[in-house]
Amino acid sequence: MIMRPPGHSGKAKKGHICFDASFETGNLGRVDLISEFEYDLFIRPDTCNPRLRLWFNFTVDNVKAEQRVVFNIVNISKSTNLFRNGMTPLVKSSSRSRWQRIPRGQVFYYKSAQHQNHYVLSFAFSFDREEDVYQFALTYPYSYSRYLAHLDNLCGSKLTCTKRETLATSVQKRKIELITINSNLDEAQDRSRKVVVVLARIHPGESPSSFVCQGLMDFLVSSHPIAQVLRNYVVFKIVPMLNPDGVFLGNYRSTVMGADLNRSWNKISEWLHPALMAVKPLLKNLDKNSRTPLDCVLDLHAHMNATGIFVYGNTYDDVYRYERHIVLPKLLAQHAEDYEIGNTMYNQDPHKAGTARRYLCSILKEHVNCYSIEVSMYGYNRKATPGIFPYTEEAYYRLGRNLARVFMEYYKLMGVIPAGLPDQPSSKRTRQSRPRYRVLRDPRPKNSRKPAPIHLASIHE
Ligand SMILES: [Zn+2]
Repeated sequence: MIMRPPGHSGKAKKGHICFDASFETGNLGRVDLISEFEYDLFIRPDTCNPRLRLWFNFTVDNVKAEQRVVFNIVNISKSTNLFRNGMTPLVKSSSRSRWQRIPRGQVFYYKSAQHQNHYVLSFAFSFDREEDVYQFALTYPYSYSRYLAHLDNLCGSKLTCTKRETLATSVQKRKIELITINSNLDEAQDRSRKVVVVLARIHPGESPSSFVCQGLMDFLVSSHPIAQVLRNYVVFKIVPMLNPDGVFLGNYRSTVMGADLNRSWNKISEWLHPALMAVKPLLKNLDKNSRTPLDCVLDLHAHMNATGIFVYGNTYDDVYRYERHIVLPKLLAQHAEDYEIGNTMYNQDPHKAGTARRYLCSILKEHVNCYSIEVSMYGYNRKATPGIFPYTEEAYYRLGRNLARVFMEYYKLMGVIPAGLPDQPSSKRTRQSRPRYRVLRDPRPKNSRKPAPIHLASIHE
């Protein structure tokens, strides 16, 4: 959609900005031209769920060099969010493919008298390259195509430790895949193993959960000693994208039918919730198997109102069951520098009866622990440094790797994995550095490694 000044007709001139969101995960519903420099932008509500408006992701082109604009996102539905804590939108451009955060000094989140006192997110931006297409997003997008491409990569090589199957198809016939990661033990080595199920992306706007899930999967199939040991003692069953239609459409929480799947586990309909309809019997069957029993279900989410990584768990009247339940989060607290104990919560909240972690613990055996793992859409607090430190894509991948380390420690503590394994100490952490183990997938093209930065400071010049 090209925005021309009032009265202008004929061919659009440079500077008559063209907005587009008609691509996978795109979301922008309407644009109003307020003045030469200012635009009001409306998020397209979730399909069949007009109350939900948060995820945005759109491109802008046909700009003039040095053109300065103010974009006001005027219809965010969740007014209490991390923009109040200094979160800023992301931007990249066609010649600079790495996402960058718009500097805080250019972003304002406030109650606007011009918009019936609604909260408005305004950001000022100066376009520095006329030929570039710029893209703005709430947080790092992770599309349906990217998910399929990653799984092709993960399972496409000669690896024998992965198995891929299509668990279900969504209402719009997209694939809900199940990946199993474990080593194929020969008869002599055969032993009872625990099963861990990981679910992700039930809420499409919570794209960081896909990065965490990918970080976990890439680590588990790698040649790292911890991964090798885990594959021998634990079977990982991973459903990386439970709501592919919502992801494709650029929704925040809903499916194409407007359903919030993580409020629907206790009222599953075959027609409305094919993903849940497939995952529930999978879990029930795993739970029946006494040789490789289901032990843990993690449901990965991202949070728009809190920092760091944290856990939502359950409370139980049986104090021993509760004490067993809080062991894994305690280990996560020890292994993730970004863990926020203050955000961790255990409850039996009746509102949350339809969530995976509440419902599944009521239908599975007592020893099975179910948790929601939440990671901030923005950043985390570091002990020695004041302020919030924004997450990058790499930091989300790292979080996934940390989850694997936590399982290692957990199953050692539980006596499932013998003490002393693996040979290399797990404390050798390579935080922020490239992993030293081999991730078995195609290398990224060299030219995408270090794109030049967008000249973000120019708005102040
Ligand atoms: Zn969620």
